[in-house]
Amino acid sequence: DENTLEVIKLRKVFGRRGRNEVVAVNDVSFSIRRGEVLGLVGESGSGKSTIARLIAHLYRPTGGEIRLSGAVVPRRMGSGALRRLRRNVQMIFQDPYASLNPLHPVSYTLSRPLKIHRLAKGGTGPQVRALLERVGLVPAEMYAAKRPFELSGGQRQRVGIARALAAQPKLILADEPTSALDVSVRLDVMNLLLDLKDQEGLSMLFITHDLAGARYMSDRVAVLYAGTLVEIGPAVEVIDRPQHPYTQLLKSAAPNPEAGFAPEQILARGEVPDLAALPPGCPFEPRCAYAMPECKDGLPRLYDVGGGHQARCLLHDPEVMARRGPSPAGA
Ligand code: SF4
Ligand code: MG
Repeated sequence: DENTLEVIKLRKVFGRRGRNEVVAVNDVSFSIRRGEVLGLVGESGSGKSTIARLIAHLYRPTGGEIRLSGAVVPRRMGSGALRRLRRNVQMIFQDPYASLNPLHPVSYTLSRPLKIHRLAKGGTGPQVRALLERVGLVPAEMYAAKRPFELSGGQRQRVGIARALAAQPKLILADEPTSALDVSVRLDVMNLLLDLKDQEGLSMLFITHDLAGARYMSDRVAVLYAGTLVEIGPAVEVIDRPQHPYTQLLKSAAPNPEAGFAPEQILARGEVPDLAALPPGCPFEPRCAYAMPECKDGLPRLYDVGGGHQARCLLHDPEVMARRGPSPAGA
């Protein structure tokens, strides 16, 4: 089966070399198959949004490779290549109000991508109406004439989704698309995204700090801590049976892991990892309840824990665990 997106050892370093260097994305690798939703979970500052911005080429990677439908995305792109990329990769943002032009009616917002990508022969009106109908904003004529301030948060996010769909992309990067919305409309927006994904065969990166939302939306889930991918696997496995101590902590911090929403930041102030001064070993070592001396030796690799599920933790290294002997804590 075909991968819509492959991210191979993607790296982003902010700041000047040697001084104030911050590794925001630390050699992250994953892929998304056609029609698949990959949930990307982590707290604010974990690198989730940076990864989306690297894929959308809003930032240029420091290292690694991005492939779309098998083709390597060049590190530097001219305007033609960038337009082709935008045709295939579209973002949906957290705050639909900030991402919509307040001066213009919805029809303007939706006709722009149609014109840029030359998708409207003989007028954009019919396609704008079709887009509005696809995201459930009916009667379409009425919504086409409205300005963002005349819409609710949920309606604005539907416009944001319609704008993303206008380009007929293969991949949607949805960066916390429901976290600014009232709880009552979150499920509607999530269901809309799932319906559209099924109808269009879209692939999706669904970024969230909310484990329940990730489980609902995603086929597979990847967990980020301090720019490092620490766990990845089938959504139900990762969230119901987390194998990395950080994912276990995230889950235990969610008020109601089945239905509730995790707080955006579970680590207390002062516990948030300083990306400029990460320890050489496991980035989670300073606050891991299971930390062993070996955890400081180097970044652990991802260990297979079965069923396509992997965790970057030495508790899954048979040699390390055999050397240590049976643990009285049963870790
Ligand atoms: Fe904890 Fe060590 Fe596993 Fe890191 S590698 S999560 S410090 S047990
Ligand atoms: Mg973010």
